[in-house]
This record gives sequence, structure tokens and C-alpha cells, in this order.
Amino acid sequence: MTDAYDYSDRIGRVEPSATLAISNLAAEKEAEGADIVDLSVGEPDFDTPENVVEAGKEALDAGHTGYTSSNGIAPLREAIAGKLRDDGIDASADEVIVTPGGKQALYETFQTLIGDGDEVVLLDPAWVSYEAMVKLAGGDLTRVDLASHGFQLEPALEDLAEAVSDDTELLVVNSPSNPTGAVFSEGALEGVRDLAVEHDLAVISDEIYERIVYDADHVSLASLDGMADRTVTVNGFSKAYSMTGWRLGYLHATEEFVGEAGKLHSHSVSCATNFVQRAGIEALENTDEAVEEMREAFADRRDLLVDLFEEHGVDVDVGDGAFYMMIPVGEPRADDADWCERAIEQAAVACVPGSAFNAPGFARISYAASEERLREAVDRLVANDLL
Ligand code: PMP
Ligand code: GLU
Repeated sequence: MTDAYDYSDRIGRVEPSATLAISNLAAEKEAEGADIVDLSVGEPDFDTPENVVEAGKEALDAGHTGYTSSNGIAPLREAIAGKLRDDGIDASADEVIVTPGGKQALYETFQTLIGDGDEVVLLDPAWVSYEAMVKLAGGDLTRVDLASHGFQLEPALEDLAEAVSDDTELLVVNSPSNPTGAVFSEGALEGVRDLAVEHDLAVISDEIYERIVYDADHVSLASLDGMADRTVTVNGFSKAYSMTGWRLGYLHATEEFVGEAGKLHSHSVSCATNFVQRAGIEALENTDEAVEEMREAFADRRDLLVDLFEEHGVDVDVGDGAFYMMIPVGEPRADDADWCERAIEQAAVACVPGSAFNAPGFARISYAASEERLREAVDRLVANDLL
């Protein structure tokens, strides 16, 4: 049946999230009885740490069920500012907006900074939702490819320098990266800083995987000289504390930016969920051990997968963070959409095509799954002649 709605141009510019679409497909197949190894969605497979769950329950029992102040409860914003100061960012609680998930923080940032025709630079492969959010804001995309540089930014700085100009409004940096796992070096981030200052750019630094790093150090972009008043730092609780369904994240920027973005925040979500914000304080303050356990488990899984792929002749440019890797599936094997379709239909393994991240010829594997399931996935791919 055709309907009577006249859809906006804006909504016609975007497709549903590919990462969520594939995990929905995997869930549907499982509901029909299929045994799918789901390596599609980026979601830690651990329980939320128990003390955080308890803090959430206590907050509910204590009646914290009403609206909060729009930008978030003061003690959580204080705790976030303290955490950011530990990262070398000169932050105060008034410079923070607490959001229902890091995604909402990103959405508000694009809407606040980008208008029709404004240029946004992405580093490819780039997480699927950046492109959609830029298009929803009316912006134009310029893309710099890191795939030919082993997914690293430092060797691609010259390409980035060619791509940005005084007309560029915003650059998006995501380290550790989804979908590659790459952690950008301090030299790379200093290169970003130099370009940002030279061309007077704003930069989004999406640091949601910052607690999941292996043989590298995470550097917060806003801690570098010259970046404090031009960086929007985005972070969230989903990945570090295995809290995807709680929906909690935040942004940090200048107080003036918070005033502007806060308008959109107050007219759209009003505030993040009250009792969830209270659990967020516990997550920030008392989870170091749980975070470390998860980080070590991810590191072991990454190493296991690299070994297994190597055994089958697949050479992976593996990163030092997050829980993703991009495996090459291009010619002579297949194009990535076709490969992922065969992976789920024939081998019952769900992965995301690299094309979703503007990186055709690769498939993204999320290794937030048990070692047993990872071995099973590789066995199935081999048995179906996909590796
Ligand atoms: N940024 C990146 C790079 C991500 O992979 C995700 C995952 N969903 C997010 C932001 C947002 O996560 P959330 O909304 O669950 O905080
Ligand atoms: N960020 C995760 C992913 O890339 C979760 C899904 C999403 O929000 O895209 O799989």
C-alpha cells in the first residue's frame, strides 16, 4: 500500500545503519532456529559489571525516575570532567552534555556545526553513521583513504593535508577506530592538530574505544596544544563498561558549544535517563578491574584470530585497539557484499561488508565473541571456501 506521507529530502539521503541491519538479520535467522556466529555488531559480549547494575537498581529504588537537568546530573558531569582532566584535557562540568549514547552526542555535534553545503572530512574506512549524520545535517563529504596505508593515519597525513582547506568545516577522527581497530600515533594526532590550526577547523574526536587498547597508548586530541577550543570529544559507556543497552554517552567541548548544542539536546531527548546517569558515576569510578579483564580477553581474541587467519593465508592489518578487524575479501575471492552474503547464507557467519565503511574489498569482523565461537566462525568460513 502506498501511503500519504510526503517524506523529507533529508531522510531520503540516508540508508538504515548497515551494522544494525546485519545484526537484525542474524537475530531473525536465530529466531527461526539457525545457529549464526554473529560477528557483525560491535557489542561487548560481557555482562555490565555487577556494581554498576547494583548502582542502577539502587537509583531506581531511591526514586531517581524523573527528568534530570537537561545536560545531565551535576555529579556525573563532575565525574566526567575529572576523567577528562586525567586524560590531559582542561575540562569542567559545565563543558559536558550527557547524552543517551555516544551516537546522540555525535548527532548533536553534526547538527550544531554543519549546515547545507558545509564540508566534512572523514578518514576511511569510517564508521557507518558518520556519513549518515553528515548527510542528515546537509553537509558534503570529502574522504581520505587510509586503507592503502595499513589503516594508519601518520603515513596518510600528506593526503589529509591535500584534502583539507580553509573551506573545510569539520574533520572526524576516531581512534581507536571502528572498523579497523587502528590506534593513531601521537605524531598522527599532532599532524591533525597542525592542519586544524592552520585551516581553522573543528575536529570531532570520537574516543569511545579509548579503554580498549593493547600495545599502544591512547592520546586525547583535545589535550594537545591548540586543540582545546576546536575539539568536540565524544565518548560513551557502551564499549568500555559493556553498557550498550543502557544508552549513556557524553560530549565535551567549550562552554559556548555546550550552550548551542544544548538547545538541540533540550528540544529533542530532554535528558539522558535519570537512574542510568547515576549508574554511570559508578562505572567511571569503580570498574578498573572489570575493564582490565575485558581488555585482556579482547587482546587474546584478537591474537587468536590473527593466528587463525594467518594459517589460512589471510594477512590482516590488525590494529591495537577496539574489537574490530578488517579482513581482505576482494578479488580474486569476491566483492565484499557478495562475500558477506555468502558468509551468512552458506556459512552462518555474520560480518559487515567493508563497503558500509567506504572500504570495498574488506569485511569487518567484530571479535566481541568467545574464543570458541571465533574458532567456529573461521572453521565455517574455511569449510565454505570463503577463506
Ligand atoms: N562511535 C563509534 C565509533 C561507535 O562504533 C559507536 C558504536 N555504536 C558509537 C560511537 C556510539 O555508541 P553508543 O551510542 O552505543 O554510545
Ligand atoms: N558501533 C557498533 C557497530 O559498529 C554498534 C552498532 C552501531 O551503532 O552502528 O557495530
